[in-house]
Amino acid sequence: MKPSRRLFLKGASALGFAAVTGTQPLFAAQADGFELAKLPYAFDALEPVIDTKTMEIHWGRHHKAYVDNLNKAFAGKVEWLAKPVDQILKEIGEVPAAIKQAVINNGGGHSNHTHFWNMMKAGGSEGPTGNLKEAIVSTFGSVEKLQALMTSNGMTRFGSGWTWLVKDPTGKLSAYSTANQDSPLMVGRTPILGIDVWEHAYYLKYQNKRADYLAAWWKVVNWKRAEELFA
Ligand code: MN
Repeated sequence: MKPSRRLFLKGASALGFAAVTGTQPLFAAQADGFELAKLPYAFDALEPVIDTKTMEIHWGRHHKAYVDNLNKAFAGKVEWLAKPVDQILKEIGEVPAAIKQAVINNGGGHSNHTHFWNMMKAGGSEGPTGNLKEAIVSTFGSVEKLQALMTSNGMTRFGSGWTWLVKDPTGKLSAYSTANQDSPLMVGRTPILGIDVWEHAYYLKYQNKRADYLAAWWKVVNWKRAEELFA
């Protein structure tokens, strides 16, 4: 099952169960926290663009640490543990102040990476097509111009972060970058495409050549997934 679907079901079933029974202990038993979903492909599936070792460490250590630390931040807070992480990020203003930054960092890290894995696929894909292509062309001029802009935004992101194509609350596309693990969901934007520009995403293969990584990334893009997110 795809991670996003799994997260949705997990949150929905926990909330639905609580609504039916109304009993806190049973509700708590459902809220067992966030899980690191399996990758939607093998570790070597994105070779040679993203090497096997990077995938193993990126998913198995970096992403896992975000999940573990998100569970620690919400320890004992069953009402939060029951929610899908994307929902929590949309409601970040409601998160208790004492753990808010930990949730921004680790909830953002969990969400961003879950989306990232699914925004890529073995062998890449033709596209975009349909409504997404029309929106990209009308907003940026062409797909190539969008790619150049996302690359430029990724190159000028000093330190660690992400370069994004997002859908604004009005439905309009825009491209920008965020620092650290800041999620576009926190400001009402829906991720359509996102490229991790933390050094851990590319350093083993590309060393300091972030531009080469960004140029190669489009060879593994999953346009079908982007179209689903845009719809
Ligand atoms: Mn990363």
